[in-house]
Amino acid sequence: MEWPTAADYRRRLRTFAVVRKFAYFNEKNESYRMRSFCKKKVEGCKWYAYARQLPRQPTWKLRGLYPEHTYTWDPDKPNPIANSRWVADMLEPLIKRHRKVFKPKEIITEMWDQYRTEIKYCVT
Ligand SMILES: [Zn+2]
Repeated sequence: MEWPTAADYRRRLRTFAVVRKFAYFNEKNESYRMRSFCKKKVEGCKWYAYARQLPRQPTWKLRGLYPEHTYTWDPDKPNPIANSRWVADMLEPLIKRHRKVFKPKEIITEMWDQYRTEIKYCVT
């Protein structure tokens, strides 16, 4: 798997985590590589993703992945990964498509419909 830039990779990872209902933290978060672990690593979850930039180009490539989770995120709890920046990223194409600015309540409904994630009102 490859992404055109580091920003694309980060956005994809965040969306993936929201959809799959888990949270992660980054280690070795450098300009050319990023290793991410499940927040439940302390409890024994082995999930991790490792991606790095290809030499002399902006492309990022997935180099390692342990895809299984030992625990699942409580689906009723808001995912801390769905922060305001992520919501803004996800809304951009929607705003372009509908040519309108969303009210906070509409944003929450939209995020729930699309990603099955609960976001706190304050995020918007
Ligand atoms: Zn996990």
